[in-house]
Amino acid sequence: MSDLYALFGGTFDPIHYGHLRPVTALAQQVGLQKVTLLPNNVPPHRPQPEASAQQRVAMLRCAIADRPLFDIDTRELTRTTPSWTVDTLETLRAERGAQQPLGFIIGQDSLLTLGKWHRWQELLSLCHLLVCQRPGYAAQMATPEMQQWLDAHRAHEVQQLHRAPAGHIWLADTPLFDISATEIRQRRHHGQDCADLLPAAVIDYIDRAGLYRD
Ligand code: ATP
Repeated sequence: MSDLYALFGGTFDPIHYGHLRPVTALAQQVGLQKVTLLPNNVPPHRPQPEASAQQRVAMLRCAIADRPLFDIDTRELTRTTPSWTVDTLETLRAERGAQQPLGFIIGQDSLLTLGKWHRWQELLSLCHLLVCQRPGYAAQMATPEMQQWLDAHRAHEVQQLHRAPAGHIWLADTPLFDISATEIRQRRHHGQDCADLLPAAVIDYIDRAGLYRD
């Protein structure tokens, strides 16, 4: 069976250490050789990112230039229709074959709202869910039904993620970073320093592009 491979979806407006550091720790923990960053196409009826799709990708490039664990897949940005995670995973599954162990990485906040995702019940037939901790979010699911679903699929040994192509949830023991893109945008709008929150190369890009300014 091929190596476990994982995708990490997000708006990345901008990418920050709260994305990069927990995922790097997760990769070491579960033995991921590669993590593909999957920037989202935000549908027109939802609040739009401040940075354009092109700028969000440029920031990802800056962030990963010296991080060989990561690469980027822009397929969701090049589609004209809204792209649901489940659709993207179906395409990837078709490309990579039925046996490829595939992970989709999310933060704890995303796990808590997973029940609202489009066709969420199908996600585990396509991938494993690899969950990074995020400070400030509940450890328990919001309803007994969702908690039962989590308990039923939770993996307790890393090998389970390598042996099966999909179907498990891994609650990773990752370091906590109380960082959000929202806070970074706000700090930039107020002219405050963000040096501890995201890579210097991304800050340089933000400065050059004049992003997150009033
Ligand atoms: P925003 O503040 O604009 O909503 P964000 O910082 O939450 O953005 P996203 O791009 O929306 O970042 O997040 C992409 C993924 O990264 C989500 O699955 C989210 O749960 C996870 N994530 C974001 N920040 C953290 C963090 N500090 N710790 C762990 N996971 C995180």
